[in-house]
Parts: sequence; C-alpha cells; structure tokens
Amino acid sequence: MSVELPEAYILAKQMNRELTGKQVASCNLQNCAKYQEIGFFNIYLSDYNKLCGRTIESVVSRGNTIRVKLDRKMNLLLAPEYGGIVLFHSKSNTAPSRYHFKLSFKDKTSLTIRLTGMGMIKSQTDEELQQSYLYKRDFSEVASPIEDYFTFERFSKELTDRNVNLKTAIVGKDAILVGLGNAAFQDILYRACIHPKRKASELNRKEKQALFNAIKCIVQQRINLGGKNQFVDLYGKQGNYIPAMGSNMRHKNCTKCGAAIEKLSLGGGQVYFCANCQK
Ligand SMILES: [Zn+2]
Repeated sequence: MSVELPEAYILAKQMNRELTGKQVASCNLQNCAKYQEIGFFNIYLSDYNKLCGRTIESVVSRGNTIRVKLDRKMNLLLAPEYGGIVLFHSKSNTAPSRYHFKLSFKDKTSLTIRLTGMGMIKSQTDEELQQSYLYKRDFSEVASPIEDYFTFERFSKELTDRNVNLKTAIVGKDAILVGLGNAAFQDILYRACIHPKRKASELNRKEKQALFNAIKCIVQQRINLGGKNQFVDLYGKQGNYIPAMGSNMRHKNCTKCGAAIEKLSLGGGQVYFCANCQK
C-alpha cells in the first residue's frame, strides 16, 4: 500500500479534480500520538483548525509528496509513502469510522486518510512548508522521471558524476531523481538487465540508455495501470501494476531465462534479481 511517485501522482490528480473549490468545514484526528512524537503530524493539534473555513485551490504532487493548497497561504502536506489509504466520500454516511485524519467539507462530502505505515500529514503555512524536510526533498531541483526536462543527456551526465552504487544514485535522499523507492529500483534494474551492485559512474552509454528507458517505462506503466496492486485510489479502486521483480519473486524462477531469483542486502533493503539476466 506504499504511496510512491506513481501513486501520489494518481491521488493528486484525482484530488485536484474532486476537491478543488470545496470549503473545509471541520478537521478530525484520531490515534496520532505516535506520529506526532516523530514529527510526522503537527505538534499542536490546533494547527489543523487553521484549515477550517478555507477553500481548496489545487492539489499537486511531486516525488512521493502531495500538496493540498488552500486559500490564504495554508497547505495540507501529505506523504503516506510507507502506506496509506486516502479516500473520498461523496456522502457523509459512507465515511469509515477508522482513520487518522478526516477533512469534512461544507457540502457534506469528506476525505479520510488512514496510515498503514509511516507517513506525514501536516497542516502548514506557505512559510512553514519551505522548512519541511519532505517538501524540500520532493519539490526540489532534483529531476522527476515524469517531467519533460528529465532527459537522457541530463540523466547520463548526473550518473557519470556519481561515484556511488546505483541504488544510492536512484533511491533515497541523495538520489538524482525524486520518487523512486526500493520496489521500483528492483523492477527497473531487472528490466534494464543491470546488476544491482553496479556503480553509477561505470555504466556504458548503452547501459545508461537501458536504465533511462526502464525508469520512464516502469513509472508510466504504474501510472497507466492505476498504481501498484496493493494500492487503492481516491475511490477505493485497486491498482493493477504487478512488479516483475521484488519480494513477490522470492523462491521463484526468472520469467525471462528460468534461472533462480537471488536476493542481496543493499542500502538498507532486500533486493531481488536474476544473476543470469542482470550483469
Ligand atoms: Zn533471468
């Protein structure tokens, strides 16, 4: 149920269409103490009341983060990246009783968010947003694989400049791209036929091109198929994207060559791969 770039993009697009123009009537929170402790929710719950009476102007995403922009310089920043269910309810009586955050609108519709892993839900002014770690990480100068200026030339140059392993170059806070997690990394490398332990700066032009194409292709496929298969969209519809490589391939054989899938620990996560296809 993790919400990474493709899923955040799908949610933000649906939220922008459904919620723009709606005025917030009330804001409710439940069971959020553990998230407050680690700074993923506002310390003062009264901060969320600042959203009341305001109108949603737009909803945008970049990387894994969703920004709900309200009038008079307020924002709701959402990043349920380790799991979350964001649902729209067209009638007040269909909203679930279990949620961490609920936004009710003047027209009796509502939005609920239930986190199933770590994730951020914060009420912030435009100014506070500029200090937010996740906002700064994702709404940044770092390239996004779905934007036009993510070109092969830029990607190739930035890879060459990195004397690090590919995982560090593609995933995480020092990556040359926003929005890709360990799951996407495994899928991308499998498609590009590149071994996960390779160094970024050592790839030849052909390998870099294969990697670039795989990134574009996998992110777009995940968007087109409505997100990963454990993800549900704003209307509760399940995604149809099944990863070609990852923990779902444990103890299985490669669908391309038949070799046994192997696993290694890399950059704080498990990476599954085919040693025969990925060189
Ligand atoms: Zn194989």
